[in-house]
Amino acid sequence: MKKVSVLGSTGSIGKSTVDLIKHNPDDFEVVALTGNQNIELLAAQAIDLSAQLVVTADTKKYKELKNLIGSHSIEVAAGRDCVIEAAQRSSDVIIAGIVGAAALEPTLAAVRRGTVIGLANKESLVCAGDLVTAEVKKSGATIIPVDSEHNAIFQVFDFNDVHHIEKIILTASGGPFRNSTIEQMASVTPDQAVAHPNWSMGAKISVDSATMMNKGLEMIEAFHLFPINKDQIDVVVHPQSVVHSMVSYVDGSVLAQMGTPDMRTPISYALAWPHRLPTRSAPLDLIGIGSLNFEAPDPIRFPSLRLAREALQTGGSAPTVLNAANEVAVSQFLKGKIGFLDIFNVVEKTLGKVSHSTLEALSDVLSLDEDARKTAASLA
Ligand code: NAD
Ligand code: MG
Repeated sequence: MKKVSVLGSTGSIGKSTVDLIKHNPDDFEVVALTGNQNIELLAAQAIDLSAQLVVTADTKKYKELKNLIGSHSIEVAAGRDCVIEAAQRSSDVIIAGIVGAAALEPTLAAVRRGTVIGLANKESLVCAGDLVTAEVKKSGATIIPVDSEHNAIFQVFDFNDVHHIEKIILTASGGPFRNSTIEQMASVTPDQAVAHPNWSMGAKISVDSATMMNKGLEMIEAFHLFPINKDQIDVVVHPQSVVHSMVSYVDGSVLAQMGTPDMRTPISYALAWPHRLPTRSAPLDLIGIGSLNFEAPDPIRFPSLRLAREALQTGGSAPTVLNAANEVAVSQFLKGKIGFLDIFNVVEKTLGKVSHSTLEALSDVLSLDEDARKTAASLA
């Protein structure tokens, strides 16, 4: 039996993780579950899986959570520090499914105890990639990427023969506005932006997919996950989301991992690593799908890829600023305060305004993240 914890168990990644644990009861024992606002679901999950500890990030929700847990022998806690403590609790594997840079400290706490981390949260690597990878080296932790593209690459990346890898190719669905004109994109609503054609995901990443900033963040994520150079990362649009990503070798071989677009596959890979786990994911029906298409991303309608590539090249604080500005802009867009195309403007202007700095410690990252958020909010 593996001991497992799930950070962000009430989210899209979290619910898929809970589903996998529930259907493989002989394989897993749950240590800690964490959530934020959806207390009813969090309590139900904790009772259902007999978790040892359940934590909400919101201290105001403690009472409600405590009442819902009632007489069950489950420890209840609330607040940011308790989420970090949940990540510190001994487990064999932990799924990092919190959204945004809020995941950074809990993820670092898990990294520092040298465990296996199924990393869904990409923002922690974008805003503090150097710090996280340095801590991984120190503690001997193992990061298994859960983001489908990086999970695909992980499965076909020959870590023993890196010199013969030419590049990695991230696939992108192109999102709901792949074929929209820039005029149409100017007036899209939050509901239209979160309606992803292939994947069912949380609101923030769905908007990121619609702007294609998701793929920009994923380029930076890939740079930190794999021993490759910044110019060895390509992006290709693949509307069917069947080829989850590829690794191209010097002899002309291109290795891909394929599957139906269902996050239970990469999550199960992380949960079971180095083995595999059956999932209830629909089998891949290649004949039913018929054809797979590939096209180049459009740099005019989707400037996010350029912004992210520039931030990756600049390094240092640039990706941290990019991420913070994007989180603010997406949240303002979801609240109806700015238009869809304004997301690009806010990110680009924030990158131009916040001065470049080096990031040595976690405190540097956190204070820069805060500065960038304030600047982005003043521009939004
Ligand atoms: P979501 O919005 O559905 O869920 C987010 C989870 O984080 C919830 O459990 C919520 O309670 C928790 N949370 C939110 N704010 C928090 C805070 N301040 N402190 C502590 N917990 C907080 O998001 P999601 O779609 O599941 O995505 C989670 C992460 O996984 C993101 O980083 C996303 O980019 C990445 N990811 C998601 C998918 C997907 O299919 N959903 C695919 C690839 C990568
Ligand atoms: Mg992805």
